[in-house]
Amino acid sequence: MALTDSYGRTATDLRVSVTDRCNLRCAYCMPAEGLDWLPRPELLTDDELVRLVGLAVGRLGITEVRFTGGEPLLRRGLTGIIERVAALSPRPQISMTTNGIGLDKLAAPLHAAGLDRINVSLDTLSPETFVALARRDRLGDVLKGLVAAAETGLAPVKVNTVLMRGVNDHEAADLLRFCLGGGYELRFIEQMPLDAQHGWRRAEMVTADEILAELQTGFSLVPADPAERGSAPAETFLVDGGPQTVGIIGSVTRPFCGACDRVRLTADGQLRNCLFARTESDLRTPLRAGASDDELADRWHRCLAVKLPGHGINDPGFLQPARPMSAIGG
Ligand code: SAM
Ligand code: SF4
Repeated sequence: MALTDSYGRTATDLRVSVTDRCNLRCAYCMPAEGLDWLPRPELLTDDELVRLVGLAVGRLGITEVRFTGGEPLLRRGLTGIIERVAALSPRPQISMTTNGIGLDKLAAPLHAAGLDRINVSLDTLSPETFVALARRDRLGDVLKGLVAAAETGLAPVKVNTVLMRGVNDHEAADLLRFCLGGGYELRFIEQMPLDAQHGWRRAEMVTADEILAELQTGFSLVPADPAERGSAPAETFLVDGGPQTVGIIGSVTRPFCGACDRVRLTADGQLRNCLFARTESDLRTPLRAGASDDELADRWHRCLAVKLPGHGINDPGFLQPARPMSAIGG
């Protein structure tokens, strides 16, 4: 039975975090130091993870599974997990969001295992800015990964960019030019209050309006057919007459919660009905206690039933969730 909430939305897109660990420390996501990882025994094993995804696909109407983290490429056994998810019936669409480090070697085996599509995060083309933003000198690795993803035949290859004021916000046009040249679909994401160190400030956020205005100084942008947007969070624009596009995800200033079709499973087996949910549904404990598929499916339904109409970031009483983005799965 489908995962429908009390506002009539149906969750069909499952985001699975396979680890909370990361080899970068992006300033909008993690502090420079001092973030504890989840204890290993709390992480779902490969078998546990595949069982929950299998339940979601086989009984709960999930049609797309996106692997994320933390940095999903750090999960040992990721290729095997993807292979097993691709063997599920009905086979879901399989995608991944990654920082791209290590993708030069992993793109081909992941694609062969069943990965269909990929999003690579890239916030800057300057090695110095990369170090300032991600606190590691790895821009070269990310770029190598991006090229490998496209050469392997993963399609489309999307690029996710978060702009930070005074750090990389002058690079919007350069990043778009780079992505048009490489055949990547660029999407800018407004910075959200999900960083572990609670450093997000509304006034410092680069808004969708600002990004659009900046891009329009160098490109002609025409809204793509809104009928094609569906539940996609990105507003898409044809660049210089198309066919290439750029997307803007205005999570804060242009929320799309009314069309949300997502549900999230954390690496330690907690189900979340929203990135910003303040409660979670524990699937790991009953799973390890021998719960039946019926019992687990029932928990899944109850979690979705209480999904709120919106994320509430713009409400005066908004409280950031206890878990940061890296532990929820972005
Ligand atoms: N490590 C992988 C990566 O960076 O692509 C996957 C996990 S990361 C949390 C998923 C996406 O969330 C990335 O595109 C990242 O840029 C984005 N992200 C992280 N923190 C964010 C924030 N505070 N606001 C908006 N997007 C954020
Ligand atoms: Fe790591 Fe991704 Fe967070 Fe950057 S955004 S610190 S790459 S999890």
